[in-house]
Amino acid sequence: MTEIDSETRTVRLAHRVPALLNALGIESPPTGEMAVHSPITGEVLVGLRPAGPAEIDSAIEEAAAAFRSWRTVPAPQRAAVVRELAVLLRRHQDELAELVTLEVGKIPAEARGEVQEMIDICEFAVGLSRQLYGYTMASERPGHRLMETWHPLGVVGVISAFNFPVAVWAWNTAVALVCGDTVVWKPSDRTPLTALACHALLRRAARAAAADPRIHQLVLGTGAAGAQLVDDERVALISATGSVAMGRRVGPRVAARFGRCLLELGGNNAAVVTPSADLDLAVRAIVFAAVGTAGQRCTSLRRLIVHAGIADELLNRLAGAYRQLRVGNPLEPGVQVGPLSGPEAWERMRDAIDLARRDGGELICGGHEVTVDGAGSAARYAHPAIVRMPDQTEIVREETFAPILYVLTYDDFDTALALHNGVPQGLSSAIFTTDQRESERFLAADGSDCGIANVNIGTSGAEIGGAFGGEKHTGGGRESGSDAWKAYMRRATNTINYSSDLPLAQGIRFD
Ligand code: NAD
Repeated sequence: MTEIDSETRTVRLAHRVPALLNALGIESPPTGEMAVHSPITGEVLVGLRPAGPAEIDSAIEEAAAAFRSWRTVPAPQRAAVVRELAVLLRRHQDELAELVTLEVGKIPAEARGEVQEMIDICEFAVGLSRQLYGYTMASERPGHRLMETWHPLGVVGVISAFNFPVAVWAWNTAVALVCGDTVVWKPSDRTPLTALACHALLRRAARAAAADPRIHQLVLGTGAAGAQLVDDERVALISATGSVAMGRRVGPRVAARFGRCLLELGGNNAAVVTPSADLDLAVRAIVFAAVGTAGQRCTSLRRLIVHAGIADELLNRLAGAYRQLRVGNPLEPGVQVGPLSGPEAWERMRDAIDLARRDGGELICGGHEVTVDGAGSAARYAHPAIVRMPDQTEIVREETFAPILYVLTYDDFDTALALHNGVPQGLSSAIFTTDQRESERFLAADGSDCGIANVNIGTSGAEIGGAFGGEKHTGGGRESGSDAWKAYMRRATNTINYSSDLPLAQGIRFD
C-alpha cells in the first residue's frame, strides 16, 4: 500500500486517501488550506477547506430545524438510523481503520478496535432506545400520580480530540440520536478525513432509515470553529473531549449562557502494584497500558506506584519488555508502537524527561528518538521511556501526551493511595493485587478518586457498557454506557391529579 518517493526516499501514503474515500462512497471533499498530515510520514495527505462562520451558523440552524421533528419520532424508530450505521460500519471497518491509521498513526489492531467500539456503541444505543426509563414515585397525596419523563434535549455540539477520532464521536452521536437530539460535530483539525467518512456513513444510514439527514452536521476547522458552537445558544449541550486547557476555555463559556457541558479532559492515570500482585499479569497489563497508541490515550498509564519490596524486580521485568518493543511504521507487521502526533509531541516528551531527571529521576530505559526508514522530517518516533522518580514532582503531576512511565515507590498502602490521588486529574486507575483487603480499599470511598478504577487490569481499554469519564480536572463528564444517556435528555417531573379534590403538598391548607 506504500509508495516510495524516488528523490527523498520517504514513504508516500497520500495516494491511499482518494482510494479509501472512494471505497467509502465519498465524493472528493472541497480542497483548501487546512493541511492534514499523516504522523507516519509527516507528509500532507490532503488540504481541506475549513467551514467559515456562516457555514457553521447554517449547520447549527439545520440541526435545530431537524430537531423540531426528530424529537417527536419514537425512540425505537430513531434507533433505525443507528442500526443502519452499525451495518455500514461493519461493512467498512477495514477502510475506516486504515483512515484512522493514516491520520493518527495507530497500529492496525488498535485502529480496528476503535472502529469496533463504534459498532459496539451503536448496538448499545439501539437497545437503549427501548430503555429510556423514568421513575414513578409514590405521591404523598391521595388520587395523585408522580412520575418523571425524559425528553430530547436539543442540538448537541460534539467537539472531539485527535487521538480517538471516531470512537468518541460514536459514543456521543449514537446515544444522542436515539435520545432524540441532533448533532453538530467539530472534529480535531488533525483528523478531518475520518470525520468526513463517518459523516457520509451516517447520512447514508439516515437515508436508508427514511430519516431526515439534517440530524447530523459536520463542521471542519480549528478551535475557533469549536468556539462558535460553544457560544451558540441554539446548542443545548456541548460535549467536548480534549485537553484540560481546552476544557478551561470551554466550560466557563457554556456556563455563562446556562448551556449544558459534558467535559472529557486529560488524565494522569496511575496503577498501584502491591507485594501480592501476580507480576506476570501485571507486566503484560502495564506495558500495553503505558505504550499502546504510543502513550497517546487519555487513559494511558503514566504513573506506577510500586511497593518498595518488589520495585527492583518489577522494573527489571518492565525494562526487559520495553527493550523488545518494536517502534516504527504502524503499517509494517509486528510494529507495536507507532509515531507520536508530530514534532511538538516529541519536544514535549524530551523536555519532560529532562525535567524529571533534573528532579532526581533516573531514566531506566527508552526516551530516545527512533529513526524510521521512509519517515519524512515532520514525523517523530520515540522509544517509550521508564523514569524512576524519588518523588511525585511537578512534571509527574502533569499529563505529558507521550509514552513516559514514571515509577514511584511506597512502603505503606495509605502512602500509595495518597500518591495515587495526589494529582489534579482523575480519569482512570488500577491496582494489581491478590489481597482482597487492598483491592476493596482501592475501590472504596477513601480509595481511588478516579472515574474509572480497575483491579488486575490496566488503565486503558474501557468497554462501552460502562460510563466513561473522570473527576477533578478531567471534567466530571460521563459518556457511553450505563445511564450516561441522561446527559443527553431533559427530565420533566409530572404530578397528575386524578381525584376531584385539590390537596396541597406538605399538608398546606389555603382556604
Ligand atoms: P485539544 O484540547 O488540543 O483539542 C481537542 C478539541 O478541542 C479539538 O477539536 C480542538 O479543535 C477543540 N478546541 C480547542 N480549543 C477550543 C475552544 N476554545 N473552543 C472549542 N473547541 C476547542 O486536544 P487534542 O490534542 O486533540 O487531544 C489530546 C487531549 O485530549 C489529551 O489531553 C487527552 O487526554 C484528551 N482526551 C481525553 C479523552 C477523555 O475521554 N477524557 C479522550 C481523548 C482525549
